[in-house]
Amino acid sequence: MKTIGLLGGMSWESTELYYRLINEGMRKALGKLHSARIAMFSVDFQELEELQHEGRWEEAGELSAAAARRVEAAGADFLVICSNTMHKVVPQVEAAISIPVLHLTDATARRVKEQQIGTVGLLGTRFTMEHDFYRGRLTEKHGLNVMVPSESDRNLVHRIIYDELCLGVVKDESRREYLRIMEHLREQGAQAIIEGCTEIVLLVNQGHTDIPLFDTTAIHTEAAVRFALSSGV
Ligand code: GLU
Repeated sequence: MKTIGLLGGMSWESTELYYRLINEGMRKALGKLHSARIAMFSVDFQELEELQHEGRWEEAGELSAAAARRVEAAGADFLVICSNTMHKVVPQVEAAISIPVLHLTDATARRVKEQQIGTVGLLGTRFTMEHDFYRGRLTEKHGLNVMVPSESDRNLVHRIIYDELCLGVVKDESRREYLRIMEHLREQGAQAIIEGCTEIVLLVNQGHTDIPLFDTTAIHTEAAVRFALSSGV
């Protein structure tokens, strides 16, 4: 079994879920008292959040690269970045370490295409919905049509992530807003929704809607367990 490296704390509300899902997945795969070999570094999210919102991505990348080096030094065989948004700095992280990064966007796109879905709605932070590192990768590398909410709805989705979900606050009224936005994307042609932020599943899961959801936290953790048990490098 490979040792899974987790770069977490972004926010810890979802890293906690990563830790649980990976261990549950490993027990399901191997039985008995098996659990995952994990090396984790968890950042202070306030520092990172300030860099993100000030557009200081180079520094956010340096901070992430330094954290990733510590995960590698702790014995990880590959790295799982527990945030969609922070995949923006994957090139900087990859340059700093010699272990591979298990890319969340690629794992998600593969799952979408397995279901023969070509048009998806994307919810996440404004960075994820608007910058090219994520949307562009889904369209250019994976050939998916990606729809995002209107600007005012993107702001709302973003605000709920940082002001509520990353603080562990789950409100019914916010769930209603997310469901409204998802429904609107479906009316415009989305066949499914990518929950492109690792905290969104804390608010909306498949029990709340019949629109097919791609929960990136579940997808990424399942991919991590599979890779940890594979013979590939
Ligand atoms: N965990 C979130 C994500 O998946 C947002 C927090 C962050 O900015 O990393 O994008």
